[in-house]
Amino acid sequence: MNVHDSERLAGLLEASGLSRQETGDGIADVVVFNTCAVRENADNKLYGNLGMLSHVKEKRPEMQIAVGGCLAQKDRETILKKAPWVDVVFGTHNVGSLPALLERARHNNEAQLEILESLEVFPSTLPTKRDSVHSGWVSISVGCNNTCTFCIVPALRGKERDRRPGEILAEIEALVADGVIEVTLLGQNVNSYGVEFGDRLAFGKLLRACGQIEGLERVRFTSPHPAAFTDDVIEAMAETPNVMPQLHMPLQSGSDKVLKDMRRSYRSKKFLGILEKVRTLIPHAAITTDIIVGFPGETEEDFQGTLDVVEASRFASAFTFQYSKRPGTPAAELPDQLPKAVVQERFERLTALQDRICAEENAKQVGRTVEVLVTEHAGRKSTETHRLSGRSTDQRLVHFSVPAGGETPRPGDLVTVPVTGSAAFHLVSDPATLAEYSVRRSRAGDAWDRSQAESCGTGTTGTTGVSLGMPALPARK
Ligand code: SF4
Repeated sequence: MNVHDSERLAGLLEASGLSRQETGDGIADVVVFNTCAVRENADNKLYGNLGMLSHVKEKRPEMQIAVGGCLAQKDRETILKKAPWVDVVFGTHNVGSLPALLERARHNNEAQLEILESLEVFPSTLPTKRDSVHSGWVSISVGCNNTCTFCIVPALRGKERDRRPGEILAEIEALVADGVIEVTLLGQNVNSYGVEFGDRLAFGKLLRACGQIEGLERVRFTSPHPAAFTDDVIEAMAETPNVMPQLHMPLQSGSDKVLKDMRRSYRSKKFLGILEKVRTLIPHAAITTDIIVGFPGETEEDFQGTLDVVEASRFASAFTFQYSKRPGTPAAELPDQLPKAVVQERFERLTALQDRICAEENAKQVGRTVEVLVTEHAGRKSTETHRLSGRSTDQRLVHFSVPAGGETPRPGDLVTVPVTGSAAFHLVSDPATLAEYSVRRSRAGDAWDRSQAESCGTGTTGTTGVSLGMPALPARK
């Protein structure tokens, strides 16, 4: 969600006359931090980066610094107190105000703080500068009506707001017309999509409607919630050829007691039942997950429950997190916060288990033929292995080599290759003969060619820049 918001910020700023400053090339005139508040580490990182920038600002007071995103929505004036050299603080509901706030800060020579309590305009109507020519994020909803006790999102992103299907499909069609062949539908809880306009089956219908869009090769979505994951969605996934055989389904814990304490309204049996249904209808589906270790009150027995569900689920990969206490969430007030050493030890056991499963599941792919959407251009292939990279239909990372005499694909093209090797976190393909290797040139590859021609034509000599995220700032020569 934040990555897509950053694309919007870049689009807005480009529309207001700025141009992107590639990190490391020089010093930007505007630096925007789009922050996350899900984990405590994000706070530390932000203030560390702001501290680093204070020295640059001393030398170049005209440089503007803006802080947005969830941490800005949460910390508000605290940011200006801790880092008074910041020029603009804006929240999650008013991304579109950034150019005006920068202008006002410049004009009034005074820091601007603007935080709205709820969304007024759905952010997808804002201009967007997309990072990829072949893949695009498409928001279907923002906010969340759930109340998971560890999560700060509902407090910072507000109640769920759903976009109308016609608007979403029109955005996808426009992306496809621009060369995009893969979209990821985004929502905090995609299964509840439609709740705002009274259609509980809206998400499955939306997936099927995506199947009708000519030229759209790959459809993904994130994230579903196990409590609301209904059979109509599984059927829509199985029956819509361009919906990819991949599912990211957050488990969080395998202990029913911890799930209850987390206010996650499913239990491990239901979770495993969903995976079984998905695998019955989509046999090669790669299922990934999120897991939190060390939630307050988690006992060794509870943790063993998580290990058991992980063993049974055979996840293709998992994002594993140590519980991070977020002030303002109910879980932060719970007694029985676990010592760091206990959490660390459990975390290491979980990651060791999941790493083993990742390696075993990837090893099962050897011998299969996979279609890979190329994500790296030939100039960036590994100098060691000379392989290119991309993603298979089930989203596995594939490093592949081009056999002698084979056509070199462009980013956005699709190659079909045999899997000849595997590791825990990627697959390897070294086709032995040309017959084992084929390239399907795509409109996304054509779009990449066009973008290269345009950047060669215009050069990168603009003096006004924007850095998004956490920029490295070399000294001006
Ligand atoms: S479903 Fe739970 S974890 Fe996900 S955004 Fe909503 S409150 Fe947070």
